[in-house]
Formats: sequence, C-alpha cells, structure tokens
Amino acid sequence: VTGVQTCALPILEVKLNKASPELLKTPPASMSDVVFGTKFSDHMFCMEWEDGKGWHNAEIKPYGPLLMEPSAMVLHYAQMAFEGLKAYRTDSGENVLFRPRENFKRMNRTAQRMCLPELDVEEVLDALKQLLRLDSAWVPHESGTTLYIRPTIVATEEAIGLKVSSKYLFFIILSPVGPYYSQGFNPVKIMVSDKYVRAVPGGVGYAKTGGNYAASILAEKEAKELGYTQVLWLDAVERRYIEEVGAMNIFFVINDEIVTPQLTGSILPGITRMSVLELGKHWGLKVSARRISIDEVLTGLKDGSLTEVFGAGTAAVISPVGALSYKEEEYQVGNGETGPVASRFYEQLTGIQYGKEAERSEERRVGKECRSRWSPYH
Ligand SMILES: *Cc1c(COP(=O)(O)O)cnc(C)c1O
Repeated sequence: VTGVQTCALPILEVKLNKASPELLKTPPASMSDVVFGTKFSDHMFCMEWEDGKGWHNAEIKPYGPLLMEPSAMVLHYAQMAFEGLKAYRTDSGENVLFRPRENFKRMNRTAQRMCLPELDVEEVLDALKQLLRLDSAWVPHESGTTLYIRPTIVATEEAIGLKVSSKYLFFIILSPVGPYYSQGFNPVKIMVSDKYVRAVPGGVGYAKTGGNYAASILAEKEAKELGYTQVLWLDAVERRYIEEVGAMNIFFVINDEIVTPQLTGSILPGITRMSVLELGKHWGLKVSARRISIDEVLTGLKDGSLTEVFGAGTAAVISPVGALSYKEEEYQVGNGETGPVASRFYEQLTGIQYGKEAERSEERRVGKECRSRWSPYH
C-alpha cells in the first residue's frame, strides 16, 4: 500500500490526556474467544459542538463512560450518526486503513439527513490517526483480525422537546475484533422478510443512523429463531425489489452478470459494495447496479442461471450465501457452497486490506487514482 499522503498543516489541535500507566489494559493475547465488539482499547477521541462555537474541545482521553444527562436528546429521539471501518496490520507490520475518507464523507451525508453538524474529513482522519498511533498495540496481529473503528455523533442538548439539538458530541472508539467467521469463509443462510420493511422512500435508509437498526432487530430475532443468520429486505412499497441484508449490501451472479440493487435512497451505500463494483469493472466483468426483483432471483435459482449470492460489508468483507428462504420455502444457492466469484472478491479485497504483495501489485496497475483511494495512514 503506497501513496502516503502527508498533510503540511497541523489541522486540528487535539489535547492529549493519556491514561495513567496503572490503568492501561492488556490487549487480548488471542482474538479467538473475543466476541465481536466487546473489547475496547485504552483511549478514545472526543470533540464537542455547540451552536455559535462549532467543533471544539478535541481531546484524546482514557476510554470510559460519557457524562450525559438523562434528558440528552439522543437518548429520546435518536438524532445520531455512526460509522464502521477497520485498521489492519499488514504482513510488513504497517498499520493501514481501508478507504477511510469514504467513511467520513458518508458520515457527513448521514449528518445532513439527521441535522447533525458536519465534520472536516481531513481533520477527523488526522485525529483518528493520532488515536490509532497511541493505541497501535491494540491492532491485533493474528491473521484475519482487525481493529474495528466506531466514529459516532450524538445530540447532547438537555431538552426533551423535539427540535434540532444545539449541542453534540463526536467520539471515536476502537475495538479489536477476530475474523468474522470463526469457522472460516462459510456460506450463511438468509431469510427474505415479507412481513417487515427496513426503510421507506424518503426515509433514512441511506443514513448510518441508530434508528434503522433498532427498527430491524425484531425481524433479525425472528429470522434467527428459524435458523437464519440475517434478513434480506425487500422494498417497502411493492415488497418485490431486493434492497440489502442486515448490515451488508447484496450481490447476485446471474448468467455471468454481477448484479446489486441500485441505490435508491433506502439502501445503505456500502464502501465494500462500491469496491466490489469497481474491482469487477476493472477485471472486465459485467457488473450492474439495477433493480432486481425477488421473482428474478427465485427464477434464477430454480433454472440454475443464478449461481451465487453474497453479501458485502466491512465486518465480514464478503459473506457467501448458501441458501435463502422466502414465504416459508427454502432455496439452495448453487450447490450451497462458496462460489468462485465471491472467493475472488474476498481474496482480492482482503489482500489489499492486509497489504499482501500480489494484490498490491494489482492495485498498482490500476494507477494513481486507486492508490490514493486505498489510503494508508503511515
Ligand atoms: C454499514 C452497512 C453496510 C455496509 O457498508 P460498508 O461501508 O461496506 O461497511 C450495508 N448495509 C447497512 C445497513 C449498513 O449499516
């Protein structure tokens, strides 16, 4: 991973309040029994916003509870935004991020929709790098492990009348995570929901905001009780067109065409989704973002023209789907195993993320534009 971009300006003054040595925790020696998102590093980044003052009080301080009144607006009306990205330790021992500017740009799009103050992408990226350098011992070493990064903005004004908050808190916390699949890269079973919907036209589906997930957990819970790991959502109007899975975008391989639903405003625009589309195009494959109905999917599964289904998202990168159920009927995808297209994207994307040599040279051939897009942090 090359093309380090250095910034000449000291862009954001960050106060550094390090945890005292006796309070430092020991990063887990092995990630194999750590449940995703349950361990946090020693420090966090915090910054406040207030009407008339803008962002201020940028500080890296010991990870710990937030002081907030029970009347803080986010606790009642969920005016918030979050992001999810990862830091990777490469084979050569460097720590790198995967397309982090895209996450902060998306956070700003969520912020616009949720009436939150926007961030300066370069400033917060610089603050994140400072935090990562301080807690770099928390980037796990074992193969397939990463340091998951969770930037969040919440409305903190103390008032229970519904309006736009005049105060906000932005924070970044870091969580070492193991490989998403403890059993390896294996297909999952998903359930198409015809009872619930995730997002409506004109709503907040494209925003990474808490309410979208609160609204989906009942469907996820019911699907799990029936033995399915995730829900595949259909559009809210006709309950006919495919949208996405829980926290992943979805891809289908139909007669050599790689198809994902087009972004309509109710789908979360995934950075992994975008990367799959770009890589597929670069490889000369036929990739399309278009409407795809559940009928087209079922027809393809029945006549064998639909050979692969896979999810794409930061947590699992690529998640092959072995079977899906719709209206109480289960359909196997291909022979139920991971297909070649899903494997190829998985190998290439994780290769770029972990800075593996073969994928790096592939990335270099794509040229300058691509290099700055897969931006490393030092
Ligand atoms: C975060 C998320 C995704 C995947 O986005 P990535 O940027 O690829 O991690 C897809 N769908 C939903 C609902 C999400 O929250």
